[in-house]
Amino acid sequence: MKFNTKAIHGNQHPEPTTGAVMPPIFQTSTYIQKSPGNHSGYEYSRGANPTRTALEYALASIENGTQGLAFGSGMAATDAVLKMLNPGDEVIAGSDLYGGTYRMFTRIYGKYDIRFHFVKGNAASKFEEKINSKTKLIWLETPTNPLLQIIDIQAVCEIAKAHGILVAVDNTFASPYNQRPLDLGADIVMHSATKYLGGHSDLIAGALITKDEELAENLYFQQFAGGGILGPQDSFLVLRGIKTLAVRMQRHAENAIRISEFLENHPKVNSVFYPGLKSHSGYEIASKQMKTPGGMLSFNLKSGKKEDAFQLLENLNVITLAESLGGVESLANHPATMTHASIPQEVRKENGISDDLIRLSIGIEDVEDILQDLEDALNLI
Ligand SMILES: *Cc1c(COP(=O)(O)O)cnc(C)c1O
Repeated sequence: MKFNTKAIHGNQHPEPTTGAVMPPIFQTSTYIQKSPGNHSGYEYSRGANPTRTALEYALASIENGTQGLAFGSGMAATDAVLKMLNPGDEVIAGSDLYGGTYRMFTRIYGKYDIRFHFVKGNAASKFEEKINSKTKLIWLETPTNPLLQIIDIQAVCEIAKAHGILVAVDNTFASPYNQRPLDLGADIVMHSATKYLGGHSDLIAGALITKDEELAENLYFQQFAGGGILGPQDSFLVLRGIKTLAVRMQRHAENAIRISEFLENHPKVNSVFYPGLKSHSGYEIASKQMKTPGGMLSFNLKSGKKEDAFQLLENLNVITLAESLGGVESLANHPATMTHASIPQEVRKENGISDDLIRLSIGIEDVEDILQDLEDALNLI
């Protein structure tokens, strides 16, 4: 089965008692047992719920994995991965990370004596330099947030494999339509399903996918014992979102390509960070590992002024100024004060998250309307 078909039918079956094509929202915490221990396979909804199971099957299918797990948020999914580690273990991650991931690593797991190395520069060799006998996990985000840097997943996985280190990839920005890390050698894929998988800015959810049996068991244990599961209503909505993932992603990319070119040629814009532009440092690797360059981009201003960035953001009409990404509507974000405020200012500066940086999640509206909105707002600064 190819991707577009998988997004709709992959591992999906009509509900057996009624034939319902979409799984019902099984709003139940518990399940009858015929005699103690003799049940239908469902005992208690923290362990499994049929609506969540249907979503988990779909997640496994679209990432070419064998086990999907749905969590109450992207952070709950990340948390389950980190809980597999022991005190004294070390983790290597890129330095351009989702703010909440950086916060969880440093402020929660740092306390439990897990040591994190944040690698500057995206070359696989930079990750290799930090490996030692305590390294247990490499955490990749590519494209990175908010600078859309590209890391060569396959190259990092080859290095990690040689040292027996697990690789987890936060695939939120690309979505499985564009990039399937398990096929490139990664062990675990993580998603904030809040974003492209849900696709409609109407829920918070997370996911993990793996194809290794032992890992699947360990991660399931973390989910079941830790309890960060996704409820049946939201499971239904994410599953529904996945059905249109392919067509949405196609349009997100078409629009983002047009907008990145427009911004790159605009006199008030300094740099545009979009892996679909030839001028982007990750262009070659992105062309190799991604189907399209995706729907996320960021840019900064010739003036370099925070006030100008604020003015632009306040004057947008079609594009909504809001956190998050990956929904059908275009969203704008000021990373330094919004999504990445939890990263200390010095660290932000070092990583290139300047005060005039604007991140856009390009929606699936008519591209002319988004272009006009940006043109008008740029004219006002
Ligand atoms: C939003 C996001 C997360 C966190 O997910 P939540 O669903 O908000 O918990 C993690 N990584 C990336 C890249 C994100 O965009």
